[in-house]
Amino acid sequence: MLNLTYSYRIYPGLDQEAQMLDWLEQCRRVYNYALAERKDWINSRKCLVNACSIKQEYIIPADTPYPDYYKQQNALTKAKEVIPELKAVHSQVLQDALKRLDKSFKFMQERGFGFPRFKKFGQYGSFVFPQFKSNPVNGFEIKLPKIGAMPINLHRPIPDGFEIKQVRVVFKSSGWYAQLILQSDVAVPEPMPHGEPIGIDLGLEKFLAVSTGKLIERPRFFVDLQSKLRWLQRKLRNKKKGSANYRKVQVKIRALHEHIYNIRREFHFLTAHKLCDIAGMIFAEDLNLKMTSRGMLAKHCLDAAWGSFLDILKWVSWKRGIYFAKVDPNGTSQTCPQCGAHTRKKKLSQRVHHCSECRYTTDRDVAAAQLVMQRGIVAVGQTVILPVEEGCLETPMKQEISSVKKGSPRSTRIG
Ligand SMILES: [Zn+2]
Repeated sequence: MLNLTYSYRIYPGLDQEAQMLDWLEQCRRVYNYALAERKDWINSRKCLVNACSIKQEYIIPADTPYPDYYKQQNALTKAKEVIPELKAVHSQVLQDALKRLDKSFKFMQERGFGFPRFKKFGQYGSFVFPQFKSNPVNGFEIKLPKIGAMPINLHRPIPDGFEIKQVRVVFKSSGWYAQLILQSDVAVPEPMPHGEPIGIDLGLEKFLAVSTGKLIERPRFFVDLQSKLRWLQRKLRNKKKGSANYRKVQVKIRALHEHIYNIRREFHFLTAHKLCDIAGMIFAEDLNLKMTSRGMLAKHCLDAAWGSFLDILKWVSWKRGIYFAKVDPNGTSQTCPQCGAHTRKKKLSQRVHHCSECRYTTDRDVAAAQLVMQRGIVAVGQTVILPVEEGCLETPMKQEISSVKKGSPRSTRIG
């Protein structure tokens, strides 16, 4: 089974647009209400009976169960009877707002940080129709339940053998989009491990390091655009909230966000193709297994960008018949890729890997990428060829993996 997401521009009429904006707002309310409910419950369990705060108290009876997805969904059904605005929204669309919250809680539990936040007005930008009985796209129109038909720009055709499973309606500053989630039941063979292996390490300073020694820089225009964004945000703070000028700046900020998103995506695709040009197997770090250090926690956005890059890389390599797998990245900065010796933990400022045992010297991110590659190769059951740098006279050209293994016992493959 294969999933694809294709994004198309749609053109709602004025009434439809007003309706869709209202749906976004109702979804946002449901999301925030459900989040508050969970937050209160969690806070009410936090303090001990003998150490309660005098100032404020969350009074929730001890036997009240945690408001999980199913309880909140039942509560939503009841709430609809008294709140007519909710009834106007397609029921599955509203349920999906709860599912979205549930997902972000699960994501937080897996990663250990990132408590879901309340969404401010305008921050809830999309809703989903999770199911379709029949194909909603017909010629040049898409028919959305309860909203009706509207023109869709099918700038590329929906591939044969694919069915529309879900539709996500997205509101961007440039207009409305429908993201069609397409599914095919045709079994597609996964690429087998073959050819030249490479490992990559995603970094803070450089965008990524390749095990071949190549470093790919973060493009300069990102920095420029980010500073432009900060400048606009500062400008926004000086405007009177809700005034015409405030809104004007707000519109500019949204447009810039979208522009940055598009440019980043383009850069990700380009980089993914570049990597596929030089490799038959690509190994990357599994970000879900990565222990993020304290300093990295602040880099949430960057983290999200890494995740979307790996998704794109996975997709591009699949399309080009290149094997892609993720490995456990922990400890890659402490192990020497050449002799497997454990080196001291490097500080972020320390840019060079230098092994005191075998004297192997290289960029620290390249060293990490080489370890990622070795772990990947072990995971697919092939032999590791160790990096050799000019000037390292004492090192043999090839070494069996046994010497590396002690540094990489936890290789995992996540397809
Ligand atoms: Zn070494």
